[in-house]
Amino acid sequence: MEKKLRFNSATIHGGQSPDKAYGAVMHPIYQTSTYAQSTPGGHQGYEYSRTHNPTRSALERSIASIENGKYGLAFASGMAAMDTVLKLFNPGDEIISTNDLYGGSYRLFTKIFEKYGLKIQFVNMDKPEIVAQYLNDKTRLIWIETPTNPMMNVVDIRAIAALGKANNTLVAVDNTFSSPYLQQPLDFGADIVMHSATKYLAGHSDTVMGLLVVNDDALEEQLAFIQNSTGAVPGPMDCFLTLRGIKTLHLRMERHSENGAEVAAFLQQHLKIEKVYWPGFTDHPYHDIAKAQMKAFGGMLSFIPKGGDLKSAIKIVEHLKIFTLAESLGGVESLAGHPASMTHASIPKEIREKSGVVDSLIRLSVGIEDVQDLIEDLDQAIG
Ligand SMILES: *Cc1c(COP(=O)(O)O)cnc(C)c1O
Repeated sequence: MEKKLRFNSATIHGGQSPDKAYGAVMHPIYQTSTYAQSTPGGHQGYEYSRTHNPTRSALERSIASIENGKYGLAFASGMAAMDTVLKLFNPGDEIISTNDLYGGSYRLFTKIFEKYGLKIQFVNMDKPEIVAQYLNDKTRLIWIETPTNPMMNVVDIRAIAALGKANNTLVAVDNTFSSPYLQQPLDFGADIVMHSATKYLAGHSDTVMGLLVVNDDALEEQLAFIQNSTGAVPGPMDCFLTLRGIKTLHLRMERHSENGAEVAAFLQQHLKIEKVYWPGFTDHPYHDIAKAQMKAFGGMLSFIPKGGDLKSAIKIVEHLKIFTLAESLGGVESLAGHPASMTHASIPKEIREKSGVVDSLIRLSVGIEDVQDLIEDLDQAIG
């Protein structure tokens, strides 16, 4: 059996080997849609690139390796990966999801899948007992996001996975915010890990990519069947870029976490800041759970300016010079976002505000620049 590599080696070598044709150290980009056959059906494992492509396979092996899973599946975007998971289910099936989640995931649940008869309940997952109240014999999936976007609440993956298992319900974790460097949900009993690899995994804001990781053979077969049937697969160039990004994931996440901690501490003591949401604070309501399931706390945080309203929040994000005002997160460069008008605009205001996404909330994706420059930039923008 192949030796199990430690995480910081698996990011570079997990599931990879030098190219058989010419010994290329980096996996080649197989920019091809089809493959020559010597006789009908006589191929070398690849027939058509919607079904499989060698560059995509290399990425799928890589993500499986660093999530401690058996199988990886790559998609054209994070939403395409989630869409494939939801197509496992039938009209009448029920899903329980975190109530504080990525706006696009909320939209996919409510605007697309509800009309095909899936019933989705959005639940505060801070307390597993609450999730237990919603479980019944029709519940097919529990969808977890942790830390949540943008409120940085933490869901106890082990506790929810145990509930799922006892009810014969699949448990999926959107691990985009943490990346496998910070937490590996399959180890805690989850059945499916989903990534918007657009974010930390690719890591350079140059690719849109989705990934799934599972351990179960039958589940992989079903997901691969949907992947091939519906066809939302990524191209080989994007697979190559994501694979390249993953090779430095451990180094980037270390710096994102260090810078995130310093920026959180700076904002926390700032007289013009009302509240900072970051799970690394010891008085964060779920700090203990975060500490138990995460290796560090990453580079994502949110804050509210004192006496803030829509206008003052917008003024701050417009005055930032190093932080770029943009959607997305997880790249080497720092980004600032205004969830109420950007990532979470597709969630109705009443629902959004119930989970804390008020008009004055600002979300930061702290990059890997010199942290002193980031702090000075925030300081001048806050004024
Ligand atoms: C960006 C994001 C998604 C969607 O992924 P895409 O690659 O943009 O399709 C899903 N979940 C979270 C937490 C995200 O940040």
